[in-house]
Amino acid sequence: MTKKIIVKYGELWLKSPHIRNEFAKKLRRNVKSMLTMANVEFEILRERDRILITTEKVDEAVEVLKRAFGVSQLIVSEEVDNDFEDIKAKALELAKNIGENETFAIRAKRKNKKYPMDSIEIEKGIAEDIDRKVDLTNPDKVIYVVVRGQTADIFTDKMKGEGGLPIGVSGRMLCLVSAGIDSPVAAWMMMKRGAIVDFITLYDEKPNPATRKLLEQLKTYSPREMRLYQVKYGEIQKELQRWAKKYTCVFCKRFMYKIAQEIAKENKYNALVTGENLSQVASQTIQNLTTQQRGLEIPVIRPLIGLEKTDIMAMAERIGTFGISEKGRAKCHYVPESPATKSDDDDIFHVEKMMDVAKIIKDAAERAEMEMV
Ligand code: ATP
Ligand code: MG
Repeated sequence: MTKKIIVKYGELWLKSPHIRNEFAKKLRRNVKSMLTMANVEFEILRERDRILITTEKVDEAVEVLKRAFGVSQLIVSEEVDNDFEDIKAKALELAKNIGENETFAIRAKRKNKKYPMDSIEIEKGIAEDIDRKVDLTNPDKVIYVVVRGQTADIFTDKMKGEGGLPIGVSGRMLCLVSAGIDSPVAAWMMMKRGAIVDFITLYDEKPNPATRKLLEQLKTYSPREMRLYQVKYGEIQKELQRWAKKYTCVFCKRFMYKIAQEIAKENKYNALVTGENLSQVASQTIQNLTTQQRGLEIPVIRPLIGLEKTDIMAMAERIGTFGISEKGRAKCHYVPESPATKSDDDDIFHVEKMMDVAKIIKDAAERAEMEMV
């Protein structure tokens, strides 16, 4: 008798057979590398619509697999010979966990239609020896039996996976990340939609160590190491403050986007990702967001645009980034006293004609230092 983890895929089944195969292959690859990165030794068996994992470290493996995007359900199951006496013995063992005042149900399924008993006979055959009340509609505990070719799976819990799509099926994105609450959540959302996400951060004098910590936390959802491009930005911010005055934040973002675009072009990213959220701060009014991205060739994806701040905070809490952001947040010295909430193309023209924008962007992108997290 062995314990194994049954991994089921979710949304993958909506796709055509060809795409589905691609996605399933990616998911298997991701699962393998996430387990390897977590130092869990395992064997993997691929079946038509699921993956089976056997390992000595079941609990640790489950924790890892719960974070693998594309997994819809996880079941820790025990496998026995499909001899009814064996099945029943195992089921009765699991039944010891049904409390005295709890109700239960046995749910049997046969994949092997030649099996000599039908599902109802299996269910009744087990239930008659359990000294607890049966409730088929709303039981406290359920014991599942799935009879296969030569074996049967027996289990009690179906755990929800994280869902989403396997990382690697939705292109490559470069996320502008600060040490704030929002951008790590935005990156996580795109990772969950199957994007490979790498990161760029721009800093005043010294990089904020919290940014790296945030990435380490996001990496627990990732089958790969992630890139962090770090760009010293203080000089440019000073220059912008000088020319842009109350528009400083608008231009600060505008230059960040442009530098990120430069790096994205060189490294073949399909899009930029930010943690912007409509009207949260002055630089995130629709007018300012529009001015900031004017002239960019690369799409800017803003997964948080329509969410409530409280919902973003709850997500940050759930994915483990909230505490790091709370501690690591640093105040920006360049924010003007009353930042403009509206800007337009004329404002861009007035400020940028005083600066050698192309050179500033090119130099900054060349200064970027890349490290792996
Ligand atoms: P966050 O919580 O992600 O810092 P925020 O609500 O503080 O966002 P802003 O500071 O206006 O809002 O930043 C908006 C977005 O711009 C961020 O979500 C992030 O994507 C990007 N960004 C801000 N600061 C930096 C930075 N220093 N380096 C890279 N990207 C940044
Ligand atoms: Mg911020």
